[in-house]
Amino acid sequence: MSCPMCGCEEFEILKSKGKKVKELTLQCDECGHVYRKTQEQAREIEVRVVISEFEHSWKTSIKLFSDEYLECGTLLYIDDKEVEVTSIENSESIRVYECPVIDIQTIWVKSLDTLARIGLSVDNHGNVLSYKLEIEREFIFEVGDVGQVNGVKFKIYGFKTLERSMKKGYAYAKVIKRVYAKLLSPKDKSRVQYDLSEYVIKTTIKEHDY
Ligand SMILES: [Zn+2]
Repeated sequence: MSCPMCGCEEFEILKSKGKKVKELTLQCDECGHVYRKTQEQAREIEVRVVISEFEHSWKTSIKLFSDEYLECGTLLYIDDKEVEVTSIENSESIRVYECPVIDIQTIWVKSLDTLARIGLSVDNHGNVLSYKLEIEREFIFEVGDVGQVNGVKFKIYGFKTLERSMKKGYAYAKVIKRVYAKLLSPKDKSRVQYDLSEYVIKTTIKEHDY
């Protein structure tokens, strides 16, 4: 709110009427001009949200203040999840980068606190133990790592990431699709660097005929 005479935004409230919509009588601090303004009180409005997490997406809603702006990249908490706004559709069904909350039709968000979902193949001379893991996105796997999963000891010899196969080096779980490892004998003397058992969500055994 600014003074219509001088543009100054400092004022004194002389009178305030109404509940939902307030009628204010203001006096400018700068030039003393008295003017009236109506002010709709900020209220919480329910906005439609589409959350995506891995390959799933679902609809929910969030309450936002009507006098706020929302822009892409904003972090919100929905159902105890931290999410990032990736797209906003306004009331004219146009995708916009930012939008007053009152004009929002739908917002799209992606869940940030999801774990990376990766595969782990442990090769035992053609029989492959295959695990599906959900693990911290920042977990680092390195070729040559010795690990353990459900009592099976293995040594990593490669990865497949979203765009390439790797036979050396390291990668974050968030970019890995599958980790390839060779089964080690329980008598193997290498030190186990980590145990992935707690991250396993599914185990399958495949018999490959080479
Ligand atoms: Zn003024």
